[in-house]
Amino acid sequence: MAIVTPIDVPAGARRRLLVSSPVTREKIGEIEVQTAADVRAALERARKAQPAWAALPVAERVRVVQRALGLLVERQDRIVEIVVRESGKPATEARMMEVFAACDALTYWSKRAPKLLRSERVPLHGILRFTKKLEIAYRPLGVVGVISPWNGPVILSLNPTVQALLAGNAVLLKPSEVTPFSGQIVADLFREAGLPEGVLELLVGDGETGAALCTAGVDKISFTGSVATGRRVAVACAEQLIPCTLELGGKDPMIVCADADLDAAAGGALAGGFLNAGQFCCGTERVYVVEEVADRFIEKVVERARALRQDASGEFDVGAMFWPRQLEIVERHVEEAVAGGARVLVGGRRNPRFEGLFYEPTVIVDVRSEMALMRDETFGPVLPIVRVKDVDEAIARANETRYGLAANVWTRDAKLAGEIARRIDSGSVCVNDLSMTYGVIEAPFGGLKESGVGHVQGRDGLRGYCHAQPLIRDRFGGRQAGSHYPYSDKRDAGMKKMIQLVFGTPLGRWLS
Ligand code: NAD
Repeated sequence: MAIVTPIDVPAGARRRLLVSSPVTREKIGEIEVQTAADVRAALERARKAQPAWAALPVAERVRVVQRALGLLVERQDRIVEIVVRESGKPATEARMMEVFAACDALTYWSKRAPKLLRSERVPLHGILRFTKKLEIAYRPLGVVGVISPWNGPVILSLNPTVQALLAGNAVLLKPSEVTPFSGQIVADLFREAGLPEGVLELLVGDGETGAALCTAGVDKISFTGSVATGRRVAVACAEQLIPCTLELGGKDPMIVCADADLDAAAGGALAGGFLNAGQFCCGTERVYVVEEVADRFIEKVVERARALRQDASGEFDVGAMFWPRQLEIVERHVEEAVAGGARVLVGGRRNPRFEGLFYEPTVIVDVRSEMALMRDETFGPVLPIVRVKDVDEAIARANETRYGLAANVWTRDAKLAGEIARRIDSGSVCVNDLSMTYGVIEAPFGGLKESGVGHVQGRDGLRGYCHAQPLIRDRFGGRQAGSHYPYSDKRDAGMKKMIQLVFGTPLGRWLS
């Protein structure tokens, strides 16, 4: 991510921020922070544009999304270049995490949305089925606010936006101030794909703009970011009585069982710990390995971690940290752990070869549960490994956290993997892979405990941008609607008999 610093402006002017490269610290650009008045004006334009957009058949909205997909594929090199310049991540990582994932999301949603958004008939139960019919229509909510973080600046802006748009909403998108140009990519794609004016409004700014969006009068907020900000967003949404989804931080555990393929597990630990320089919401932040295989596993991890190449150009594996504040957290966590007796096996410091925000890929052992490194989200390229007696201890340690976003388990025993998964308090669990749930669009994605509220992705994620409106029709044109009213003793006796017949006999219960 880029480095963001305030620029002096005359009193009364909009605040301006200087955006600099995390690699070279050179200026990339400037942004002007949009104010509450700007947000209200954008909301007004979105409100005007939304009804016509919602009135289009879903297939027409899909056509816009497919054109955006075409542009995305065509421009992939340019997009990779912008993301790399702003984030310092390797080009392959930008292509995989941002471009591939975005193409996949646009393709998936444009194929599935027409079916998932279609009104559906739902068979009724019991005696109601003889008198009523139920149809559920998925209506857009209106205008949705999307607030996104810096660590997946394109995909985490694009994915909620495309779902909200396909569902017939207008969107106000507020990307992170740390990656404003990646956010711009998303807005440009849809605009150039022919999205009507006002249906997607880009809001440039920081927390001031985000906070203004939450109270501007939108119909839902889809938020991805830290726990601290998520809490503020939740409070603002509660006051507005609007729904929100909160996709927040994590402290994801990895459990390595005695029968695991240790080469595969070591590879998974590295990818899970160092992908995006560790700035990955489902990154592996704690590894629990059973004693029996701990030495061999640690040896493999160390050997591979030493071979990782950290750089800013050419072929490399680990890039820069996105911004100084994150780097400082990583340094503090490692320094405190070392002071408390932890041993660094690889890395453990800023990379002295670079000017920019580079922290060496780090493997660390002899850590304890009470250390900040094991308690709080580190969000950096640090892999703490803990030896445990057995799987039971691994699960207990994995659960000793206030987070619950994702987890991964390594074993050749499918039954054991399922049993472990059900005992880990985690939003999702991956077996023999790093936590890549967000990339499986069919899977509902959401955190437990402080890692979030609600789900994104999957059928319910898309429908979360809708109001599910039941339409209940009487099969007899309403002729029996008032048949039990006004009340009489005779009707009460009839009702009593009916309850006895329907719920008081095995045949009645079976029929209903
Ligand atoms: P952040 O909370 O600092 O910022 C996220 C967004 O919120 C930014 O756009 C920011 O400008 C905006 N914002 C700041 N203050 C606000 C306020 N008061 N009201 C409304 N919006 C406000 O998070 P970040 O540092 O950009 O992102 C990193 C965090 O995001 C990590 O904790 C990471 O785990 C988490 N994350 C979670 C997921 C997930 O799906 N669960 C995905 C990616 C990142």
